[in-house]
Amino acid sequence: MRIKLFYICVVWLVSSMSCIAKNEVKVHLTVNPEKKSFTCKYQIKLQPKAKRSHFVFTLNKAFHVEGVRSKGQSKYEVRPFFDLFQKDTLKRIEVAFANNSKSTREVTISYSGNVPERFFTDNVLEFSAHTNWLPNIPGKEYELVSYELEVSVEDGYQVISTSHPVGQKPGTYTFRGSAPNIEITAIAATEFEELSTGSEGHTVSVYKAGRRMNAADTTLLRHTREAIAYFNQTIGKEHPIATFTVLLPGTNRDAFGLLDNAVNITYADFNTNNVEDRLILAHEISHKWWAYGRWNDYNNWLNEAFATYASLLYLRAIGDTATYEEEIAKRQASSKNSPALVGFDVSKHDYKTYRQVIYGKGTVALYHLHKKIGDKRFLQLLSQVAAAKIATTEELLEKVEKLEGKELRRWFEATLKS
Ligand SMILES: [Zn+2]
Repeated sequence: MRIKLFYICVVWLVSSMSCIAKNEVKVHLTVNPEKKSFTCKYQIKLQPKAKRSHFVFTLNKAFHVEGVRSKGQSKYEVRPFFDLFQKDTLKRIEVAFANNSKSTREVTISYSGNVPERFFTDNVLEFSAHTNWLPNIPGKEYELVSYELEVSVEDGYQVISTSHPVGQKPGTYTFRGSAPNIEITAIAATEFEELSTGSEGHTVSVYKAGRRMNAADTTLLRHTREAIAYFNQTIGKEHPIATFTVLLPGTNRDAFGLLDNAVNITYADFNTNNVEDRLILAHEISHKWWAYGRWNDYNNWLNEAFATYASLLYLRAIGDTATYEEEIAKRQASSKNSPALVGFDVSKHDYKTYRQVIYGKGTVALYHLHKKIGDKRFLQLLSQVAAAKIATTEELLEKVEKLEGKELRRWFEATLKS
């Protein structure tokens, strides 16, 4: 069986997020397909209240910073540093404004580079959340921004994103939307094939870059619609999906969900007739709802275990109870002697233990909760938890107590601490 990693594909948005004005981002990306290189102008208008005099951005260490400009800027500095989130050395760009500057905090960073290995094929170039192609504010990689993305590419290439372009002229495509800064996406390819269908309140489009559609893609479209239909009636009842995009760049690396109603599946031989791939698909789609848990500590189980259990629920709902039970039993066995979920120190364990606890043990805990309160109450609880966009285990326990009473909360808390 192939080993596929579910990369970290999660979001932590503080609960007060909706009250804060979003940063506005304008990106102009120029792609050179022949050289597999690009230049980019990234402009960010920081929230009106941000009158600080000092800002920091991070950028892929392999890129060349050509300039940093802003009105009222006194200086900028670029130097390498080790970033704990990306676990990599990055470029750190520090921008200082003159103390008395009243101007809007608007910064433009111009840079260029080669598209990183594993993010291109002969006729496809992928600029996605995992390409690490944009500057980020450290710790705010997943903060929502309103963006305009303009992509220029030579004749013979087309560009798609997570939504349709709002403007298009020969060689230039413009997209607009709201997404986590790190998730702004552009895929350029010599051609795209599209499969699209809509009914029962949601439309799904599959885009395949640089290759012909085949029978597996038709099945993928059907299974995506089926999973969305199930989730919309259960966990996503409060915030159902209306339109959804499946990107298939063919760069053959990983798969991840995007908050902007999309998934990016790069495996070249992805086939949801295999149950393993079907679970990956459902897991990544469900990150639409399981994306708000704090990602950098044990609370990440609120994203990963919930997405894993949601994918198993979907499997059970389509009649594959045997695999559902098998997958639970596997996780029960592998997480048996592992550390407790609550308080699990992610910095002190290897990736295998991390998977056992955050993905495995969390999934088993949800299974037990499900068994204890039954389908109806459990699914009701999940839809309420999803709607609340909770960030911490404590918030989850409060929700459990509110809906199911003190006793169940105590029992569930003890489960998570054992
Ligand atoms: Zn995941």
